[in-house]
Amino acid sequence: MMEETIHAGTSLEEYQPETTLRVEDYEPYIGPEGVEKLKFLADLVDGKGWANLNSTFEGGGVAEMLRSLIPLARGLGINARWYGIRGSEEFFQVTKKFHNLLQGEEQPISLEEIFGAYLDTIHTNALKTYIVSDLVVIHDPQPAAMVMNGVIFGNVLWRCHIDTSEPNRTIWRFLLPYINQCAGAIFTMPEFIGPGLQVPLYQVAPCIDPMATKNRFNSKRQALDILAPLFQQYGVDPQRPILTAVSRYDIHKNQGTILKAFKRLREERKSGPPPYLIFLGNKATDDPEGDAILEKLKAEAGDDPDVLFWVNVADNDRVVGALMRIARGMVHISTREGFGLVVAEALWQGTPVIGSRVGGITRQVVDDKTGYLVAPMDVEAVAARMADLLDHPAAAKALGACGREHIRRNFLLPKLLECYLTLLRFYSGVHHDPPDFRLDDLAYSEIIHAVKREHPILAQAPSSILPSGMI
Ligand code: UDP
Repeated sequence: MMEETIHAGTSLEEYQPETTLRVEDYEPYIGPEGVEKLKFLADLVDGKGWANLNSTFEGGGVAEMLRSLIPLARGLGINARWYGIRGSEEFFQVTKKFHNLLQGEEQPISLEEIFGAYLDTIHTNALKTYIVSDLVVIHDPQPAAMVMNGVIFGNVLWRCHIDTSEPNRTIWRFLLPYINQCAGAIFTMPEFIGPGLQVPLYQVAPCIDPMATKNRFNSKRQALDILAPLFQQYGVDPQRPILTAVSRYDIHKNQGTILKAFKRLREERKSGPPPYLIFLGNKATDDPEGDAILEKLKAEAGDDPDVLFWVNVADNDRVVGALMRIARGMVHISTREGFGLVVAEALWQGTPVIGSRVGGITRQVVDDKTGYLVAPMDVEAVAARMADLLDHPAAAKALGACGREHIRRNFLLPKLLECYLTLLRFYSGVHHDPPDFRLDDLAYSEIIHAVKREHPILAQAPSSILPSGMI
């Protein structure tokens, strides 16, 4: 039963899902036992509240996941909510700097930006905030300071979706008191944990929703029909192979290197039908940098008719799924990547991924099994792997099939909901044993950092902690 009173009073903007999702509909992917497990967990936390707070309802991976998680949780009777803080363009420019700095990018930031644009906006939002819930999850740095500002009663967890393994010290130190005020923090990989955390830590991987429009598995024919208007608009010949890159335009997404590799590929390629490179990208409302990065990329591409930019397309979700479905391969070679939902989405469409040996990509791209791993700036290697996918379609298909199974076993939405319900069960006192995805030791982050300092090579090593069922 939903408790209507529990969140009453807050005037933050709330996401209103059009519908709820039925867990039974996920049975083809997780089996009857998976459905029963979720129902069992949900029964244990019947009537408990779970609220989420972030800074945008649209664009980017966090919004993507919450858009499915909330309806599925509600379908199971959980009082699940999603609130968004509002901010001016200036606020999002500052939080984008936070994001970049936390992921190790150096750029200037002034105290005025931190204490003016950032904290002023937090205070304005705080005046509207009155959340009472058993579990409150604050996503990413943008709303992090809300934990000590708004009126929030409940167990607050900070969910970090980015790689904060080597954060800029100033910003990390600024955020630390807020994070340490929380009842715990969730990271995608232990390697991402920044120094100085004094709260329980959890490891939870992001997931994709197999029932979401973009993740429906269309036949090639259906995919081509969905893409027909865009193919016509851009004069694309559907007989020619397509390589794609799907993401926001962001410094860490490294689209410039993809373009260079594609140009190199064509210089060296003497036979076979010429491929297209299609960049599909949208803009998140909390990301003000996209335009400049896109314009630079377009200028670098020049008037190349085989390099296409599809930006904020109509019918976005069906187009994303269809393009990933028919592409020979997707290239995602970020220099930093918390997870990269697009990798999971492409693999789920049975399309192999050329991914960089970076962050969450390494959890999804298993070299030579679900795609190929490369160093993010290695133009030659990316071009060579593009050639492999184009020249060996059967092998590419086999990689894609393996990729789909890898995602099914490890990264589908029910698994993510299971983690949140387990946290809800623990934090609402229904169950006293900590979740098994809790990282044992509160000093864990210090150990990781000490080890990395002594053995710098480990800092570059891919995750040694692989999900169960990893190929
Ligand atoms: N996306 C989209 N349309 C686009 C580009 C991206 O719907 O034109 C979606 C993409 O399918 C994925 C999300 O945006 O679900 C991006 O999540 P990811 O974790 O890959 O990156 P983030 O933007 O969070 O860094």
